[in-house]
Amino acid sequence: MEITTVGELLHWSYSNLAMAHSAITAKTEKYGRTQFMIRSRLYAGLNKQTMNIGPLADDERLKMLLPQACCYCGSREYLSVDHLIPTKRGGANSGDNLVWACRSCNSSKCAHDALEWLAERNQFPPILLLRRYLKLAIEISRERNLMNAPLAEAYGLPFSLSSIPKTYPLPSQLRLWVVELD
Ligand SMILES: [Zn+2]
Repeated sequence: MEITTVGELLHWSYSNLAMAHSAITAKTEKYGRTQFMIRSRLYAGLNKQTMNIGPLADDERLKMLLPQACCYCGSREYLSVDHLIPTKRGGANSGDNLVWACRSCNSSKCAHDALEWLAERNQFPPILLLRRYLKLAIEISRERNLMNAPLAEAYGLPFSLSSIPKTYPLPSQLRLWVVELD
């Protein structure tokens, strides 16, 4: 399958995320027919605009329910707020873009892109953190009318296009959140 535009890349990653989320929730070790179906339906629907991504309000509600811990390492000490998409790069100064981070992760990540920073540490982001990131990335790309832009011609985005995952690890290697949820 060929991915040529910003929208296709973000939709593909978001559809894979839905596939992964479904597998984790169903506690399956591998992706099965149900999950592949979820991915292909959502990908087609998002590209045709007959389906849409979930609202960021869901992630905000979740932020209030999840244990208050650093979203990168799970520490509960010295927490402050971090802009998931750094404001220095053009990320918004709004609640949707704010996550908890400990002092150590915050100063190490600094103005780095969260996905690049995690990749450097050989870490695949927790699914629910990646979900927020992808929703923000899609929102920003829509606002800037870049969803149909060829990947090579999309400049100045505040997130890293090259760090958007196109393939996802097996469900057994994925985490929903940085700390265990009951
Ligand atoms: Zn941390």
